[in-house]
Amino acid sequence: MKILKNVFELNKAIKNYKNVGFVPTMGGIHKGHESLIKISQKNNKETIVSIFVNPTQFNQKKDFNNYPRDIQKDISILRRLKVTYLFLPEVDEIYKKKMKNFILNKSDKILCAKYRKGHFEGVLNVMNRLLSFVKSKNVFMGEKDFQQYSLIKKLLGKKYKVNIIGCPTVRLNNKIALSTRNKLLSKTSIIKASKIANRLFKVKKLSKIDDSINLSKLKKELENRFKVQIDYLEFRDEKNLKLSNYKSKYRLFIAYNINGVRLIDNF
Ligand code: AMP
Repeated sequence: MKILKNVFELNKAIKNYKNVGFVPTMGGIHKGHESLIKISQKNNKETIVSIFVNPTQFNQKKDFNNYPRDIQKDISILRRLKVTYLFLPEVDEIYKKKMKNFILNKSDKILCAKYRKGHFEGVLNVMNRLLSFVKSKNVFMGEKDFQQYSLIKKLLGKKYKVNIIGCPTVRLNNKIALSTRNKLLSKTSIIKASKIANRLFKVKKLSKIDDSINLSKLKKELENRFKVQIDYLEFRDEKNLKLSNYKSKYRLFIAYNINGVRLIDNF
C-alpha cells in the first residue's frame, strides 16, 4: 500500500483514475469501512482510501479532539485488506486551496442538518475538496450516514460526474450499527443502544402494515426508558428525504445522545 501525504504525491502516484474506487473515511477503521473497501475492490482494479478527520464538520472542538484515532492500527488493517493507496493529508493540505463554501438550502435543513448546525456544510466542503483532488469516478459511501450520502450524491455527484454508491449498513449481532464513535460508549450504553436498535427494526417492520404509528409517543417512551435524548425519530422517503407517505421506499431515521455520545442510525 502506498501512503500519499499530499496532493503532489497523489498526482504523482495516480495518473489514471479509470479503475480506482474511492472510499473516504475519518479513520478508526472498522468492519463498516471494510465492507465499503471490499465493495470498491470488487468493482475496481485499485482502491484509494482517505483518512482525514475533518475539523470543519464538528460542532464542538471537544468532540473533534475526542474523536477516536489510531492511525497505526488503521494502516495495518488497510494493508491486510490490500488497499492500493492511502491518502493521509494534514488539515493545511486540504484547506490551502481556495474554494467556494457550500451553503445548504432551507429544504435540506432537516434531520442532522437541523440539529447539527454547520455540520453538513463542513462535510460538503471537505468532500468538495477531496473530490477535486482524488479524481475517482466511483465513490463508496455508507447508508449508515444516509443523509450525508444523499446530500453528497445530490450536490457533488453531478458537479464531479462521479457515481456516489450507497453501501449497506454493517451491524454487530446485537444490531448496533458499527461506528468509530462506539468506542466512546460504556457497557450500559451499548446494551441500551442495542435495545433501541432492535425495537426500531420491529417498528419499521410494523409500519409496513400499520401506517399510524405514533412516533412522538415512541420517542418519549424511549427517552424515559433508556434515559437518552432523541433529536429526531422520523420516517422519511429514501429518494428525497421528505416525510414519508409510506408509498415509496422509506426509512426510519434516528439521532440520539446517550451519555454524551451522539449516535445516528436508520432502519
Ligand atoms: P466515517 O469514517 O465515520 O466518516 O465513515 C466513512 C464512511 O464509512 C462513510 O461513508 C460512512 O457512511 C461509512 N460507514 C460508517 N459506518 C458504517 C457502517 N456501520 N456500515 C457501512 N458503512 C459505514
